[in-house]
This record gives sequence, structure tokens and C-alpha cells, in this order.
Amino acid sequence: KKITIAIDGFSSTGKSTVAKKLARELGYVYVDTGAMYRAVTLYMMRKVFVADGNFDREAIIRHLPFINLKFVFNNSLGYGEIYLNNENVEKEIRYLDVSKHVSQVAAIPEIRKMLVKQQQEMGKNKGIVMDGRDIGTVVFPGAELKIFMTASTEQRAKRRYDELKERGDNIEYEAVLKNVKDRDFLDSTREDSPLRKAVDAVEFDNSRMNLEEQFEKVLKLAND
Ligand code: C5P
Repeated sequence: KKITIAIDGFSSTGKSTVAKKLARELGYVYVDTGAMYRAVTLYMMRKVFVADGNFDREAIIRHLPFINLKFVFNNSLGYGEIYLNNENVEKEIRYLDVSKHVSQVAAIPEIRKMLVKQQQEMGKNKGIVMDGRDIGTVVFPGAELKIFMTASTEQRAKRRYDELKERGDNIEYEAVLKNVKDRDFLDSTREDSPLRKAVDAVEFDNSRMNLEEQFEKVLKLAND
């Protein structure tokens, strides 16, 4: 019987790696909700933001109806890539520029409402692995399996730094560390913080488990 699997946690805890692998193994659909918040942020950076990164909330809200997001399955990657109004933005949304603004944009209630609704629609049929911050608490509180991933800030910054380097980004580790810290702060201190561990979530500490161990454990939980 197919189920809904929610994987939540801070950025760069290795959530998406485990989630993608799990979806592939089970033949489930994988949805990266962080990519959706990032794509909306990219759109706003292009259309609404002024030079210093400030933005007009009302203008952001007015633009929402013009945003179309979809995931298109890429056979060679084995997962869906995100399209913003028919443009593949999978790469561009990972750049530090987007990372710097995403938490602020993701804090706007109208945006959360819109994206949560789309996510619930995508998960209408069971057989889905969704990763994000609020999947087990808000999007699918009834998910049969909930995982909450944690890891130290330094470890996560190192992981994100390695990813960006691999993509050819010329960047300093210190800048990445600062961004991870800033986003953690913004993501967890807001009153309606999206990042909370669901009471029925299983917690995984990435610092003490390698990918293979985590994967084995999640797979076992999914099959139970
Ligand atoms: O997972 P990722 O680091 O790509 O997410 C980028 C940002 O999107 C997070 O820092 C957070 O601000 C926001 N986000 C969110 N709710 C989600 C997923 C991501 O607010 N479900």
C-alpha cells in the first residue's frame, strides 16, 4: 500500500538526497518544496525587488497569480526539475543570491498559503515523498511516515559549500556559513515558524549517520 512520506528539517541536512533516493527505490513521486519557495523568490527578484533587495509586500502579492510552477520529470536525473512559467530554473534557484532572500519571501503568509495548497494537490494520490520545513506539520499532518532531519550548522554549511563549488560557483565558505545561520534564524524564530518537528516524527541526526545508514533506516520505516 502506498503512503505519504514527509521529510522535514533545516537546510542542507541531506534531506533531499535521502528523499530522492527513497522515492526512486519505492517508485514514488518526489517533491522538493524548498525549490518552490526558491522559484517564487527568483520570480520576485526579477520582477519586484529593487536593487538593495528590498521589496514591496503588496506588489509581491499582486504578482502571485502570474506564477506557474511545475515539476517536469528528468529521466537522466531521476527526479522532477522545477519550471517557473515554463523556464527550467533548477540551477538558478540554488545560487546564493536566491538563498539570501528566500526565507523572507517564504515568510509571507499569502505565499505559504498558495504553495501549501499546490503541495497538497500534488500529494492527493499517495506514493509521494515530500521534503521541506512544514510537511509533517502543515501540508500533510496525516502523513503515515514523518522524518525530521538535523545536523550541525558547520556540517550543513560545509555540505552546501561543496555543492556550490561542484557547480562552479566561486564562493567563500564563510559566506555560505553565514547564509545557513541567517536562514536558520529566520526559519525558526518567526512566530509562525515553518520549522517544527511534528510530535509523531522520527528524528535523524545526520552528524552521526552516513547516507547509507539513514537510507536503510528510512526504507525500513517506509516498509513497516
Ligand atoms: O530546502 P531549501 O533549503 O532549499 O529551502 C529554501 C528555503 O525555503 C528555506 O530556507 C525556507 O525559508 C523556505 N522553505 C519553507 N517551507 C518549506 C520549504 C522551504 O519556508 N516547506
